[in-house]
Amino acid sequence: MLRRSFLAGGAAALGLADSAAAFEVTRSEAEWKAMLSSLEYKVMRRHGTERAFTSPLNDENRAGTFLCRGCELPLYASDTKFDSGTGWPSFYEALPGAIGTSTDRRLFMVRTECHCRRCGSHLGHIFDDGPPPTGKRHCINGVSLTFRPA
Ligand SMILES: [Zn+2]
Repeated sequence: MLRRSFLAGGAAALGLADSAAAFEVTRSEAEWKAMLSSLEYKVMRRHGTERAFTSPLNDENRAGTFLCRGCELPLYASDTKFDSGTGWPSFYEALPGAIGTSTDRRLFMVRTECHCRRCGSHLGHIFDDGPPPTGKRHCINGVSLTFRPA
């Protein structure tokens, strides 16, 4: 298990997050398309971005857990969610071991991309302008998540 984790992390660090073999949960493109809406597929499997202020989860303020829509892995706890004003669900910290990251060099920027550790589905990006205690802002597409109230 340790070696597998190391390999998966190494692949993500090299920007090889799309390498399906690195993830515990894998599905064919046809399977992903069958289980996701076209927007969910575009965001989660093609690194797209939902339009700001379109996700109902942006205004979700109940206590609970945000899960990966692709594999139901718990990703974010509600007590780390904050209102960033950006129009996307924002968190200052992921649950331990829940996400992987890669370097995204598209759009003439260098950004830290984040994805579900278990199925590789794209979640969003991590920025350094978040609140205490981490100073991080995980800017997440709501379509990549589902919410489970506590
Ligand atoms: Zn997942």
